[in-house]
Amino acid sequence: TIVVSGATGQLGRRVVEELLARGVAPADVVAGGRDEERLAALGEATGVRTARMDYDDPATLEAALSAGDVFLLVSGSEPGGRVPQHAAAIDAAVHAGVAHVAYTSVLGAGDTPLSLAAEHEATEELLRASGLPVTLLRNGWYTENYAATLEQARATGVVLTSTGEGRVASATRDDYAAATARVLADVAAGDGAEHVGAAYELSGDHAWDAEELVAALGEVLGREVTLRAVDTDSHVAALRQAGLDEGTAGFVAGLDAAIAQGALAATPGDLSRLAGRPTTPLVDALRAMA
Ligand code: NDP
Repeated sequence: TIVVSGATGQLGRRVVEELLARGVAPADVVAGGRDEERLAALGEATGVRTARMDYDDPATLEAALSAGDVFLLVSGSEPGGRVPQHAAAIDAAVHAGVAHVAYTSVLGAGDTPLSLAAEHEATEELLRASGLPVTLLRNGWYTENYAATLEQARATGVVLTSTGEGRVASATRDDYAAATARVLADVAAGDGAEHVGAAYELSGDHAWDAEELVAALGEVLGREVTLRAVDTDSHVAALRQAGLDEGTAGFVAGLDAAIAQGALAATPGDLSRLAGRPTTPLVDALRAMA
C-alpha cells in the first residue's frame, strides 16, 4: 500500500491523482490528512482508501501505517512546529515496519541560506537515524507561490523584490506531484532500487530572474508590469508600510535575500527526469493562475 499523508492538501491530492494516472489501483492507495470532510470527498472522487493522519496525534499515524507500506510524508504546513510532528510520523513508520519513506524536503537542504530549511534538515537527520529506506524529495519553489505577486501586478503594475540577480527554478505542484508519484510507484512495484537513499533536488528546468518574471506577468496580464528592485532593508520598510508585521516582513525579505544568494536556482534536472516530461514553463503556469 502507498500511504500519502497531507493528501487533503494541494500537493498530496495531486500525488494521489498522479498515482492513479500511473495505473496504481485505488485499493492500493491510502490518502491521509486531518480534515475529515476533504478526506471523504477525496475518497469519493478517486476511490482510494482514506485515513485520518494528524502529526499531533500519534495514534492516528500508527493506525494508518502497516508493515510493508510505502509512505510519503508530506511536510507539515505550520512552520516552527514541524520537527516534533515529523518525528511522530517517523516513529510511527518505524513501529509499523513500513518498507520505505519518501519525504518532501527543501531544495539544497544541508547547504542553503533559506530559513525554512532548518526544520527540513532536522527531519532529514531523523530519517537517516531511523534506519528506514528513505528517498528525499527536496522540493524547490512552487510557481503557485507567485499567485499574490500576480494579483499585486494586476492591481498595481509593479512587482517589488529584493532578489537582485537571484534566479528561481520554480515548477508547478503538478510537476512535483508527477515526480513524487513516479518514485512511490516504482518503489511499490519493487522497481525502486535507484530511489533508496537518493536525495533528489527537484526544481524547474529553467531558472528565471526577476526581469523574466515581470515580462511573463506582463504577457499574461496584458498590461505593463515594472520591476521595483530594492535592497533588503528597503524591502522590509516597504512591507512594513504596506501593513505587514515586523516578523512577516522580515521573513518575506529574508526569502528574497536567500534567493539573491542562489538558494532556489539549481537546475539539476531531477524533476523532469523523474516526471518523464519537461517542467511547466513560468509563463504557462502564470497563465493558468491568472
Ligand atoms: P497545503 O497547505 O495545501 O497542504 C498541507 C497538508 O499538510 C494538508 O493536507 C494538511 O492536512 C497537512 N498537514 C498540515 N499539518 C498537519 C498535521 N499537523 N498533521 C497532519 N497533516 C498536516 O500545502 P501544499 O500541499 O501546497 O504543500 C505541501 C507541503 O509543502 C506544505 O505542507 C509545506 O510543508 C510545503 N510547502 C512548500 C512550498 C514550496 O514552494 N515548495 C510552498 C508551501 C508549502 P489538513 O488540511 O487535512 O489539515
